[in-house]
Amino acid sequence: MFIDPFGRAITYLRISVTDRCNLRCVYCMPKEGLSKIPPQAGQWQVRSDQLSVEEIVRVVETAAKGGVNRIRLTGGEPLVHPQVVEIVRRIASIPGIEEVSLTTNAMLLERLAQPLADAGLKRVNISLDSLDIDKFKRITRGGDLNRVWKGIAAAERARLAPLKLNTVIVRGLNADELPAFARLTMENDWHVRFIEVMPIGNAQDWGEGFPAPRERYFSVQEMGVALSTFDLQPVTAPAGNGPARTYKIPGARGTIGFISPLGEHFCESCNRLRLTSDGKLRSCLVIPNEVSLREAARTGKPLEKYFYQAVANKPKQHNMCVSMPTDTQRGMSQLGG
Ligand code: SAM
Ligand code: SF4
Repeated sequence: MFIDPFGRAITYLRISVTDRCNLRCVYCMPKEGLSKIPPQAGQWQVRSDQLSVEEIVRVVETAAKGGVNRIRLTGGEPLVHPQVVEIVRRIASIPGIEEVSLTTNAMLLERLAQPLADAGLKRVNISLDSLDIDKFKRITRGGDLNRVWKGIAAAERARLAPLKLNTVIVRGLNADELPAFARLTMENDWHVRFIEVMPIGNAQDWGEGFPAPRERYFSVQEMGVALSTFDLQPVTAPAGNGPARTYKIPGARGTIGFISPLGEHFCESCNRLRLTSDGKLRSCLVIPNEVSLREAARTGKPLEKYFYQAVANKPKQHNMCVSMPTDTQRGMSQLGG
């Protein structure tokens, strides 16, 4: 078992399968892509540095032997990886892996939902930050909201459930849409999760018409106030709702969750490790101590010791705060969220 120095068992691995993405969400990447982030946040990874399917499988086999039973694929955008279905198929069949899920912007989900489900994917989390077609396009710098709706419909047909929508709330951008997102849960068995924007890789100016860095943070407490007319009732979280505090509008089919990485961080129950697409194990989203297992994975050497090192590195909690850009040495698209 992988147990960290603070007694937390590590049972969940988030794998960023690529740092590439077909969108450029304002809070995640600059519009020119990664190479324009100042040097400390890195540049696009060299493709030959990225783990192959075989290497990812080797890492997951080791993780499973150490007690990891849930895997989430993320990115960048995992669906732009040409072998994403194959990755799911291979890791879903590894003994000990009980659930493979994926976080996506849904641009390519309509076509891939069924093949992914057939390969063994259990659930998807879909990132969706506006219900307004023009605003969605502005936030994502080019995304098509209609494709998200088609992706959601395809995910439902493929029974990728429970379906979660992740909505990053930014003051002066989409905080006014909180009630509209909450209302989605009345008719749909969806779990909408509102997430505080984190100061990771996005300290720059987002351009004309967007809020300035110091204005963007909108706390979960403020979100609660914006939804006070809904009489939200606390409920037990659906499977895999992780760090969300979960509520329901009376009579609604779905739920509403609040995720507060800054205000009420959930470090004390953190059970996760991250694997970057260039083969670094990372024990905290925020703190940049990484253990590289790429060469060992490439040459077929045992990988346990890298996991033990990463687990031993796991900090008690992070030190991210609202007012300061966090030096993670990688942008969010290279960390997987
Ligand atoms: N491309 C996929 C997607 O957007 O769902 C997966 C990768 S993305 C980096 C994972 C999650 O991180 C998304 O839900 C996104 O909204 C979230 N994210 C990115 N930058 C963020 C930030 N600065 N603060 C909070 N969440 C962020
Ligand atoms: Fe791409 Fe996801 Fe980042 Fe948006 S949040 S730019 S979809 S990686």
